[in-house]
Amino acid sequence: MDYTVLVNKEKLLPSDYIPEELVEIHEPTGSKLDKTYVNRLNITAYRFFKKMQTDALKKGFEIFVDSSYRPYDYQKRVFDNIVQEKGIEHAKKFVAEPGASEHQTGLAIDIIFRRNGKMIESQTEDDPEIQWLFANAHKYGFILRYPKGKENITGFDFEPWHFRYVGEKLASELFSKGLTLEEYYAKID
Ligand SMILES: [Zn+2]
Repeated sequence: MDYTVLVNKEKLLPSDYIPEELVEIHEPTGSKLDKTYVNRLNITAYRFFKKMQTDALKKGFEIFVDSSYRPYDYQKRVFDNIVQEKGIEHAKKFVAEPGASEHQTGLAIDIIFRRNGKMIESQTEDDPEIQWLFANAHKYGFILRYPKGKENITGFDFEPWHFRYVGEKLASELFSKGLTLEEYYAKID
């Protein structure tokens, strides 16, 4: 499994792409998810997530994986529903087209957290849990995949909850240089 794979609106995954090494995970989730959704994640990404989760807890932050692997067909259903409701332009702006979501790699996670016993579903950059992740996720191999100010490079709006496992080495390099995955690949091409 190539943890550094680039997936975006220009580099789509084929509809039949199913990643290897997925494990089913059971984490407290939010209420927004489809009831039929089974949470699965790449086994290595999950192992590192658990380390990050344990260390976050030492600081009093309870973080969980809300949503990780999404099959092509799942993303297609989500996308098609938004097209039906709000039209194709809106859908293209706010939802990844099928194949353009890196959730299909099994390496991306949407974070949710619990505070005072309550799940917090509208994560912002001002939340201390998110701030902790911004500063520390790279140590566990995760990057903030869609940062603020890089929307025109990633093609996605700022998503303070979306992290992507790329492995410790690349995550630390991207973190220290302030690069997105797109910029990294543009440089080495
Ligand atoms: Zn996401």
